[in-house]
Amino acid sequence: MLAYKAPRLVTVDPAHTSRTCAACGRADAASRRSRASFECVACGHADHADLNAARNIRRRGLALLHGEGRSHSATPANRETDRRLAA
Ligand SMILES: [Zn+2]
Repeated sequence: MLAYKAPRLVTVDPAHTSRTCAACGRADAASRRSRASFECVACGHADHADLNAARNIRRRGLALLHGEGRSHSATPANRETDRRLAA
């Protein structure tokens, strides 16, 4: 159903997206303060845990779309990624 409605469907590995900081890329289970809250132990970035994970999944999807391989390295979202998306 989703594949029917979406013009292009990209699947990404969701591993560690809930414990990885969308701002600095640090993956640490201690950053997941509770089921709902995320606060990075490295940079202090705070967000709803689901939103933080969604940003990580989005970044992985964009990396696949732009041919940056299947690397799951934790690189933070940045303006470069957003600019390419808008192009
Ligand atoms: Zn961080």
